[in-house]
Amino acid sequence: SLRGKCAVVTGSTSGIGRGIVTQFAKAGCRVLFHGLESESQVSSLKEELASFSKDKVVYSGANLADAEQCQALIELATKELGKVDILVNNAGVQFTAPVQDFPVEKWKWLIDVNLNAPFHLTRTVIPQMYERKWGRLIHIASAHGKVASKNKTAYCASKHGIIGFSKSVALEAAGTGVTSNCICPGWVLTPLVKQQIERISKEKAISFDAAKMELLLEKQPSGEYVDPEDLGAFAVFLSTDAASQVTGAALSMDGGWTVP
Ligand code: NAD
Repeated sequence: SLRGKCAVVTGSTSGIGRGIVTQFAKAGCRVLFHGLESESQVSSLKEELASFSKDKVVYSGANLADAEQCQALIELATKELGKVDILVNNAGVQFTAPVQDFPVEKWKWLIDVNLNAPFHLTRTVIPQMYERKWGRLIHIASAHGKVASKNKTAYCASKHGIIGFSKSVALEAAGTGVTSNCICPGWVLTPLVKQQIERISKEKAISFDAAKMELLLEKQPSGEYVDPEDLGAFAVFLSTDAASQVTGAALSMDGGWTVP
């Protein structure tokens, strides 16, 4: 159990983040969940998380493409939860195009959300973790943090980048009780991936289900999508004292995608 610990999970109204925040709530944490929805749109999720954690649940609708809102999110969490022990940098976006056609505005937006936001959130939260000599920084990178696919220059740059960022933070924090790690998922069936499946289905004039299997089997030897709550269980493990010596790692849960 992680009772007494306070966890912030960005991008947790949907997909992987929702699986992760659910597991932290089930582990008894006080949690801040976050997304772009209004407070009223997330009221049932808030109730569900509170029923799991039996403790306080707070929501933030901060736009993480904005550095000031990143800082404000940590300030809100610290005020409302009392402290932040665990930060999961999960919020992320995707855009695909060949590099010569990649819209400059999309590049900037993607790097802001996937890479710059984790920097702003980390730099704001880490001093209080150092003070208490305990902290967990968990960044949701991707198989695309280790290997590439075409048409994903911005995404691959952001995910390779977050792994380097996390490794450097891990060295700075070594011996302080604060760890920094990346989790690198393979395909997970979330809205972010469904939009890619819909594109394949249109382009190739095949059904959604056929496109879903085509996307998966091109990369993931297991032939199965990763479950968001299993990623959550992985993040919960990294937040236990048993994982105190796991730091600077980029840990895959990808059905064999990145096996050399
Ligand atoms: P998703 O689209 O289901 O959820 C993304 C979340 O991020 C949502 O809660 C959304 O509100 C939030 N978000 C998006 N833009 C934001 C912004 N500007 N400010 C604040 N919040 C914002 O996506 P997902 O598939 O669950 O992805 C979650 C993370 O996992 C991302 O970092 C993604 O790159 C990574 N990932 C996903 C997969 C996959 O197969 N789905 C694989 C590897 C890595």
